[in-house]
Amino acid sequence: MQGYEAVVVGLGATGSAAVYQLAQAGVRVLGIDRLAPPHTYGSSHGDTRITRLAIGEGDVYVPFVRRSHELWREIEVDSGAGLLHQVGGVVISPVAGGAAMHGSDDFFSATVDIARRHGVDHEVLDAGQLADRFPQFGVGAEHAGYFEPDAGFVMAEAAVRAQLDLAVRHGAQLRRDERVLDVLPSGDGVVVRTDRGRYGAGTAVLAAGPWLPELIDPDLGGLFTVYRQVVNWFAGDLADGSFEPDRCPVFIWQFGPGEEDVCYGFPAIDGPGGGVKVGTEHYGSPVTPDTVRREVLPSEVEQTYHRCVAGRLPALRAAAVRSVSCLYTVTPDFGFVVDRHPLHHGVIVASPCSGHGFKHSAAVGESIAQLVTTGTSTLDLSPFALGRLTSPAGGSGSGGRR
Ligand SMILES: Cc1cc2nc3c(=O)[nH]c(=O)nc-3n(C[C@H](O)[C@H](O)[C@H](O)COP(=O)(O)OP(=O)(O)OC[C@H]3O[C@@H](n4cnc5c(N)ncnc54)[C@H](O)[C@@H]3O)c2cc1C
Repeated sequence: MQGYEAVVVGLGATGSAAVYQLAQAGVRVLGIDRLAPPHTYGSSHGDTRITRLAIGEGDVYVPFVRRSHELWREIEVDSGAGLLHQVGGVVISPVAGGAAMHGSDDFFSATVDIARRHGVDHEVLDAGQLADRFPQFGVGAEHAGYFEPDAGFVMAEAAVRAQLDLAVRHGAQLRRDERVLDVLPSGDGVVVRTDRGRYGAGTAVLAAGPWLPELIDPDLGGLFTVYRQVVNWFAGDLADGSFEPDRCPVFIWQFGPGEEDVCYGFPAIDGPGGGVKVGTEHYGSPVTPDTVRREVLPSEVEQTYHRCVAGRLPALRAAAVRSVSCLYTVTPDFGFVVDRHPLHHGVIVASPCSGHGFKHSAAVGESIAQLVTTGTSTLDLSPFALGRLTSPAGGSGSGGRR
């Protein structure tokens, strides 16, 4: 049995960052993935992810996105990949506020408050200012806007690929198309058993995204619910360049009070023929990654167009150039879990998803590496402790939001 200081299970946004940071720190590390990342079956595909510095999901996340931006710039230099595009970002919301997102009851107000508290450069715009500044959005008088010039997007698959390449350059071993069956405590560490072998390690990092529930004990697995999401690249009359990255920010548009009353989108990064990527959020029926329907039906494209796009993005048509489904792994309070397993010290459970994890993933990977090498991390991981969800006051079976 081969021995490592650390084994990272799952090499999506989280695992690729962790394996890279561990290798860079000189740790003898093995990364294993059941598929060949970057792939289209987990949570880290679809070209782009929004990043923003004022994190309406909570103050605790701000240091992670700030550090991630620094790390992506370093990774860009080391890998030659273009990853972080700070084209600006706008949150559009009903003036009265009170629209929920990712567990925040009033995401717009929380975003503005957090920008103020953390000194994030921003402007609050009324409907007229929004319409003047961003004519590609069909805003009504009932909307207000938050604009952040340093927000933008990260190239998702490119970031995973760059970190995996750099990990190998720093001495990591990667095993693709190998499935981890279980991780068992052994002495001071763990044994990772796969469909092809067994590996001993001091620490195993479980970064299995939507497959996490099947890798950990059912009690903990029950804290993570997986939901299918759909994104479409809508065709449109884009020849005027109003959706080009130099004129169009990333956007989050809240049009009602509920968690699902939202869409978000990106500039047309592939030119007028590539369409405009628009995503929605669904928390209806839980799914599993092995049984979920992957293809997107024409009726889903049509529904999204009529519910989210029509009237709001007048240049777009009810036809998708491309559509993909993707998976959110959601905790009861929409927060991350990055913590040691309560019973097995050699296992770190890493689920920074709940639909908003990519922007923080580079720094989460660094924090995991620090946890492995020093037992603690520079950035505060305590808000992501499992105990908040498993204690009597937590979300597990005790009235958490979801
Ligand atoms: C549609 C969509 C839009 C999003 N938009 C944003 C956004 O705009 N901004 C933002 O910040 N975040 C966003 N997110 C969230 C973000 O993308 C996720 O937080 C992040 O990608 C999670 O990555 P992960 O590495 O935890 O999971 P994954 O990418 O799913 O990686 C898990 C990996 O584990 C592997 N694996 C699973 N089981 C095993 C096993 N038994 N053995 C070996 N390997 C295994 C899988 O093959 C996979 O490669 C979005 C997510 C989705 C789905």
